[in-house]
Amino acid sequence: MYKYIFGPVSSRRFGLSLGIDLSPEQKSCNFDCLYCELKPAKVTDSIANPPKAEDVLEEVEKALKEYPDVDVITITANGEPTLYPFLDTLTEGLNRLKGDKKLLILSNASTIVDPRIQEILRKIDIVKLSLDCATPACFKKIDRPLKSVHIEDVIQGLIAFRQKFTHALILEILVVQGINDKKEEMEALKNVLDQVKPDRVDLGTIDRPPAYDVKGVSTEKLKALSHYLGNHNISIMHKEKPQKRVDFSKEEILATILRRPQSASDVAYLFSDKARENLEALLHEGKVVEENIAGVLFYTLPENQHKRKK
Ligand code: SF4
Repeated sequence: MYKYIFGPVSSRRFGLSLGIDLSPEQKSCNFDCLYCELKPAKVTDSIANPPKAEDVLEEVEKALKEYPDVDVITITANGEPTLYPFLDTLTEGLNRLKGDKKLLILSNASTIVDPRIQEILRKIDIVKLSLDCATPACFKKIDRPLKSVHIEDVIQGLIAFRQKFTHALILEILVVQGINDKKEEMEALKNVLDQVKPDRVDLGTIDRPPAYDVKGVSTEKLKALSHYLGNHNISIMHKEKPQKRVDFSKEEILATILRRPQSASDVAYLFSDKARENLEALLHEGKVVEENIAGVLFYTLPENQHKRKK
């Protein structure tokens, strides 16, 4: 029986993941997001009774022997993992233990402006940070942070971090009905995405019962909102089955991919059999290429892939 380890759980976006919970006794978070799946708790900037890094590492070592097939080791907390005071020691220890697994952290980005946190996160293979809104009013409404956390600092921190960070950076936008499901909010986010240039953007909505009385949006709405975010690698959460799959011609596929790389899940959601044949032909001709970004397969133009590799 483990105290700090959970899973493995199968995740659509990262593969088989072994989770580490750095705050197993209580929720410890500096946000109180409307969509949080955890029971609401007082916002805090620390983890009470944090476990010793050595104790967590001992469990990870044991769990890796028990579950040798996991793809990623995911650092989370019952709240915000960058509040964990021994994160640096833990990260270094996990890097020694991980072998061929990838190390992933899921953070709300509240501390990314802190150069010390940036240095620690640089040692992690995949850093996934939340960014639900780029305007102060929307940020406060959805994420309900501690007073000391300002979206302007988060954005500056993201830009500074990206300049140093060479591994996979993923930003996650979670859409809540009636709050950030608007053109203006998406355009403000696009402005940040254009500066940060994340490797991938995960665009999702509420999937499981949230702590508060808020609702998610439909897959169609997510797709419509994604058009305001520019041609980043956007992985859209597909909750429902499509109404109708489309017979895209080769030209239409190229025009769609030019606007925004399509994920394998977009293709499964929207492309008819004929459209998939056309996509296969474009791959064969080298006009479209596949790119795996931190576990999600995208179809993109060769020039975009090369641009990213520079
Ligand atoms: S940042 Fe995560 S843990 Fe914290 S309140 Fe928001 S959803 Fe919950």
